[in-house]
Amino acid sequence: METKNFLRMKEGDGEFSYAQNSTLQGRILDQVSKPLIKYAIRSLLSNDNNTHFLEIFNVADLGCGVGSSPISFISYVIDTINEIYKDLKLDNSQVPKINMWMNDLPSNDFKLLFQNLKKLEESKGDDCITSCLFMGVYGSFYNRLFPQNFLHLVHSNYALHWLSRVPPSIYNESRRSKNNGKMIVCETSPREVVKAYRAQFHKDFSQFLECRSCEIVSNGYMVLTIVGSPSMVPHHPCSARLLCKVMDNLVSKRLIKEEKAKSFDLPLHYPSKEEIESTIKKEGSFTIEKLETLYDCFAKEINDIEAKAISSANSIRASIEVLVCYHFGEHICDLFFDELVRVTIQHFYNEPNASVELFNIVVMLRRKID
Ligand code: SAH
Repeated sequence: METKNFLRMKEGDGEFSYAQNSTLQGRILDQVSKPLIKYAIRSLLSNDNNTHFLEIFNVADLGCGVGSSPISFISYVIDTINEIYKDLKLDNSQVPKINMWMNDLPSNDFKLLFQNLKKLEESKGDDCITSCLFMGVYGSFYNRLFPQNFLHLVHSNYALHWLSRVPPSIYNESRRSKNNGKMIVCETSPREVVKAYRAQFHKDFSQFLECRSCEIVSNGYMVLTIVGSPSMVPHHPCSARLLCKVMDNLVSKRLIKEEKAKSFDLPLHYPSKEEIESTIKKEGSFTIEKLETLYDCFAKEINDIEAKAISSANSIRASIEVLVCYHFGEHICDLFFDELVRVTIQHFYNEPNASVELFNIVVMLRRKID
């Protein structure tokens, strides 16, 4: 089944919500993406390009989700444009209007997103010379979403490692997964499964680039942050190892049937820098202007081992709870994630310097001139 029909991060702003458990995503945006976004905006609006009389500046946040990251992104774009035009001492009629297109799948919590956007708008006050409209665009970013030659800047944070589907070839005729009930690629995954996930990523990411190449103006920019792998050697992040252990434990305690475990796989692939680069080059519409990588971990700000483990487990939960409940049923949900908390605490006690680390790949692309 296609991811677009069932994926969503945990809605609302409760204890297990995505909004309350996405600090790491915001940190990568602050530390790595924002300087690139500023560079892209300055370049697009600079005098040399003679585009500072641009009437409308179209910006899209793809897979925007809900929480502090999309708000922080938008706020930053507004402030940056404001700053540029104040420096240039232009009058208001020469300042472009910003259209912010917020994209996600239809089941995203757009209601909370727009409530937060309203607060942002109110907080900007009179000092802000740029005016901004916010629009929601539902649909999969693996399809066309915007008209031709329309967008100036595209951003996507922490979304492109979600595939359009679990690669169908990992299932045999009786719909049993060849990944042995592991739900995500891990040390024991057969090579065939690893290859199938890589191929699916290549197909999806190529399609993403093709769609955007139609929608982005010549010389327009994209800044993409993807959770990835540090090399082409199959990489098994700590979060994947913890999830595999949870599944093994629940099956051996007979809380989950082996059959059921063997038909559950996450549509997630953590690509290496090489996979990203080679897909971009093959597709051919964009140049890679910059590529940066960085390790970071959940709950970095917390020192207490148990609190750190709980917070890390909640961050994982916020992203996959809906998928787990959908497959195993609501009654399994708390059991599953209580086990994840136990396994994570154990892991942190066994390795005192442990953390649930993610390898982040941030890439800035520029649309080639037609
Ligand atoms: N950008 C936000 C949210 C990241 S979570 C942040 O940085 O916090 C990943 C988001 O991507 C989710 O909201 C998910 O619904 C969305 N997503 C995943 N696949 C998608 C697709 N094919 N099309 C649009 N959105 C998608």
